Amino acid sequence: MSTDFKKTKAICFDLGNTLIEFGPRQIAKQYQGLTGKLTQMFGSCDAAILKQIRDRQIVAPYTDHYRENDVEECCRELIEGIYRTTATEEQVKQLAEERYQTFVDIIELADHILPLLSDLGKNYRLALLSNFPCARSIRDGIEKLGMTSHFDAIVISGEIGWVKPDPRPYQSLLDQLDEKPEDCIYVGDNWLADVQGAKGMGMKAILTTEHLPYERFEPKEGDQTPDATIAQLDGLRKLLL
Ligand SMILES: [Mg+2]
Repeated sequence: MSTDFKKTKAICFDLGNTLIEFGPRQIAKQYQGLTGKLTQMFGSCDAAILKQIRDRQIVAPYTDHYRENDVEECCRELIEGIYRTTATEEQVKQLAEERYQTFVDIIELADHILPLLSDLGKNYRLALLSNFPCARSIRDGIEKLGMTSHFDAIVISGEIGWVKPDPRPYQSLLDQLDEKPEDCIYVGDNWLADVQGAKGMGMKAILTTEHLPYERFEPKEGDQTPDATIAQLDGLRKLLL
């Protein structure tokens, strides 16, 4: 075990592209689900406009003071942007439901993740903090994957209203765990949300490069560096066990 992490009491994880892959393949499936539903509801869907709006929505929280998106507002924007019509509450709700269901359906877990959580959980408390506007998608998704019982605390940005790297979701996680930041490690794939966010709180940060993030943020001058970088999540065994 690395001496840098000797004091660690809790290991906190990001979800997308850390514990599960959420890359171009999954995003394409998500777009297919949205396109299918929109076509069924309104007729032929312009995939280019859909992608343009979704790409803007995905990065919006990072350009708006880390305020999380509202799922129904995003659905309304899609309907009104693609079809130049005013969406009803019912139509917005139907599209939001499709988004939820598609997410839960498409996420998968690699075989080695549950054994890893199980082994880490023998020595540490484990927690999850995910940036995602629809908390129900994450809670039902991780339940489907059999991960829920491994975590002592779960925080989703959609429930807080702010995304990592804003301190508020991290503080909520630390409050739920009732641990000091210096006794916690955060493991994630995103340079800004995960590494800068966790280091800014006084937590240790481990960057995983196993899956590439969809929303990529390059290091800037003055940024803090991770305490360790791993090419595979299983690298945590060597660092922490
Ligand atoms: Mg991630």
